[in-house]
Amino acid sequence: MSYPKVELHCHMDGAIPDRLFVKYCRQDGLCKPETSDEEWIKAHVMSETMSLSECMGLFALLTGLLQNEERLEEVSFELLKDMYESGSKLVELRFSPQSHANEHMSMEDAVKAVLRGREKALQVYPDMVCGFLLCMMNLGQDLGTIENNTRTILLAKKYKGHGVVGIDLAGDELATPIENYEAQFELAQRLGVNYTIHAGESGPASNVAFAIRQNGGRIGHGIHSIEDEKVVDELVRKAVLLEVSVTSNYFSRCVDSLDAHPIRKLWDKGVMININTDDPGLMGISLKHEYDVIKEHFGFNEKDFILSNLYSARASFCPGKEKIIAQLTQALHEA
Ligand SMILES: [Zn+2]
Repeated sequence: MSYPKVELHCHMDGAIPDRLFVKYCRQDGLCKPETSDEEWIKAHVMSETMSLSECMGLFALLTGLLQNEERLEEVSFELLKDMYESGSKLVELRFSPQSHANEHMSMEDAVKAVLRGREKALQVYPDMVCGFLLCMMNLGQDLGTIENNTRTILLAKKYKGHGVVGIDLAGDELATPIENYEAQFELAQRLGVNYTIHAGESGPASNVAFAIRQNGGRIGHGIHSIEDEKVVDELVRKAVLLEVSVTSNYFSRCVDSLDAHPIRKLWDKGVMININTDDPGLMGISLKHEYDVIKEHFGFNEKDFILSNLYSARASFCPGKEKIIAQLTQALHEA
């Protein structure tokens, strides 16, 4: 059966389509002419044997490739196109404007560039529903980062209604205590800016408890909630959606093995789950791959998948999602 897929947790830098990744690396002279495209791509995808610092190095390389407006616009357009063509009809992409600001491009220029790419995609696929989340970064509590994170919230407010649908807190969850960001979520709330929070990915269940208290309605990963039954109960009681990425959690060693991933346990306890790739380019995976893994390893059936997409559509921050909700409701009745 075909039903629209809803993907809410995908980092644009980690999702650069292979063809563009190779093109940019060649343009920047990073890849030797004698190296084939396939060899180059293979050497730059994550695997379960890679160390965390190697993985961070790979992500930094990807961000480094997207330091001008032309490429940001191109990746935004091409990525949305690929996602639509592969069945994702309601999509939220995320990126961190401060990681792309440089002497030639401000944070706002970076936001405007990705929004131009989104406009182009909507011209080709007018029935696609898509928006951008702007990521604040957990890099530490230096003044520059605090300022940039506040700027990120203000940009999300300014471009709300023009393709930006909210903010996120990304970066290293363990860099500084997540509680330090409370004032910024309060500001976002005051300004009417939606937010999701990376919590309980590499960090403990108490981070998920913090994120639940911020009332954003969604949490990035949140899988370590499984370590505290009370936190899981709160997720269910407050109807919080977890944006889960199984392969990413495995590759980044947030779970001991693929089969140790708590997705099935959380689902069976009644937690609403959204299925995502997180960083498909970096991981060398597709959304279909994630569905296959979840079906094979965790026994999700068609009805589970439709229900998961319905929960996700309801929790999406994108305006215009009603038709997708209606299609999923219909698909659920027919399943
Ligand atoms: Zn993420």
